[in-house]
Amino acid sequence: MENVDILIIGQGPAGLSSAIYTARAGMRTLILGCAPKVAGDYEIDNYFGFTETITGKELIERGKAQAAKFGADIRCDRVLAIHNSETGSFIAKTEDNKIEAASVILATGVSHIRPGISNLGDYEGKGVSYCVSCDGFFMRGKPVVVIGEGNFAANQALELLQYTPEVKICSQGKELTISDEFLYRLDEHNIPVLEGKIATLAGDTGLEKLRFESGEEIDAQGLFVAMGQASSSDFAYSLGLLRNGQFIETDRDQRTNVPGVFAAGDCVGRFMQISVAVGEGALAGRAAISHVKERRRTLLDKEAN
Ligand code: FAD
Repeated sequence: MENVDILIIGQGPAGLSSAIYTARAGMRTLILGCAPKVAGDYEIDNYFGFTETITGKELIERGKAQAAKFGADIRCDRVLAIHNSETGSFIAKTEDNKIEAASVILATGVSHIRPGISNLGDYEGKGVSYCVSCDGFFMRGKPVVVIGEGNFAANQALELLQYTPEVKICSQGKELTISDEFLYRLDEHNIPVLEGKIATLAGDTGLEKLRFESGEEIDAQGLFVAMGQASSSDFAYSLGLLRNGQFIETDRDQRTNVPGVFAAGDCVGRFMQISVAVGEGALAGRAAISHVKERRRTLLDKEAN
């Protein structure tokens, strides 16, 4: 397992801004994520200091170069799951690695992917879940389906095997992006991948059946939503963070309710602009630096006594 001081999830303006502060302060900083949406040929006209229009791509490239200059390790890798450890650190599982971090900054932006099931909301808390580590336990021995097309869904399905052998994946009609390695593991554990599209859910007091557009029905008492890549909401569920809808609650220093976890940028949902993401990223970086220093002092004191 790799060990870092500060793990930043997201390579947009918020994550890169945090990294400039944390790496410059000498913290071992790892930034994961891939090109954010804004890193295309979009023209940015309203960011401070650029009298000539700059593209989102160039702004992000400059931010990455600046963070790298101070020693931040920047990798294109997706976080599949993150959990609190017993020692107060955080363990992230990514597509390529497993990482332990003393502090985490969530800068994942917002996810707009929805499964498109008409009555999904009616079954939230009655079988529909967004968090295997929170609700998997309630599904012991029951038939469950994970809805999603990528490695995030595959990882959730494999995690569910701790609770039930009856696990299926449904890609919801999307093209599969599950890697060969995950496909092999799904096959090894007899987890089928259904490529149809679920239209509605059915059940009297809780979820009992999934109805596909084709008219086919299958039994399922649990439906775990894991479309696209894991989002800040998914991380909020597994870390126990307070949310306001899909946004993460923070104080004015970008601290969440869990010590050591900070959030910045669009995932906090204030004013979704680059300038705000950069400012919140700086605050989150500063708060994470303080947390790591405090943690080091506490660990040293413990060792001394
Ligand atoms: P994002 O920039 O969305 O970055 C999120 C990062 O998180 C990405 O790197 C992504 O790969 C990563 N990530 C997500 N999930 C995971 C995971 N599971 N594992 C690892 N990494 C993950 N704002 C302006 O101020 N001016 C403009 O002109 C402007 N134009 C825009 C044009 C477009 C097309 C878009 C989409 C946005 C525009 N915005 C503009 C808004 C601005 O881009 C956002 O407010 C800003 O990018 C938010 O930054 P962020 O760092 O919070 O998130």
